[in-house]
Amino acid sequence: MFEHRYTDNSLSGLMQGKILCVGRNYAEHAKELNNPLPQRPLIFIKPSTAATSLLQPFQIPQNKGAVHHELELALLITRPLTRASEEEAVAAVGGIGLALDLTLRDVQDELKQKGQPWEVAKAFDGSCPLSGFVKVEHFDARREEVFTLHRNGKLQQHGRSSDMIFKIPMLLSYMSHIFTLLPGDVVLTGTPAGVGPLQSGDELRCSLEERFTLETRVL
Ligand code: ZN
Repeated sequence: MFEHRYTDNSLSGLMQGKILCVGRNYAEHAKELNNPLPQRPLIFIKPSTAATSLLQPFQIPQNKGAVHHELELALLITRPLTRASEEEAVAAVGGIGLALDLTLRDVQDELKQKGQPWEVAKAFDGSCPLSGFVKVEHFDARREEVFTLHRNGKLQQHGRSSDMIFKIPMLLSYMSHIFTLLPGDVVLTGTPAGVGPLQSGDELRCSLEERFTLETRVL
């Protein structure tokens, strides 16, 4: 298996950086939350303090309404990127893994109604459990990545990278025109349909097909 953050010692010196995320990047998921399809990527950031390990049981906020799981493909950035081309952006991906973009859905709904920013619902401490990363020498953005989340034995989410509205090369390049990406930063690429509430005691199985499967639990 692999270490908490990195499968390879050559990556282990990296500090946890910021986490860049995209909302509504799968049509079926946008539909399930009654959101319109975006014309351009809907970007938000979680701070480094949002990161926690998905390999160990993790905590969720209490008494703040529904806490939804959003399983997402996560990319580890290992080279600086500023206003990068799609080719440069893809070459900066040094690892691939899974993340849960934990979302306080009731809080987010209220923020959305008021037209307010989402950080309170999405960027709190522990809001981004990360699997760790499988090192990739030459990231192939055309390779189909398939990932699943089972909650208490039931298939809840089943994503395919080819279903992304904004594909990885475009997404990374786009982000790098707004924010400089640094080694240690992580990019979350959006969640497929099937999001739903987590409860204490839930058993989760997260799989990135042909790469790894992990089991964890909500405390
Ligand atoms: Zn998400």
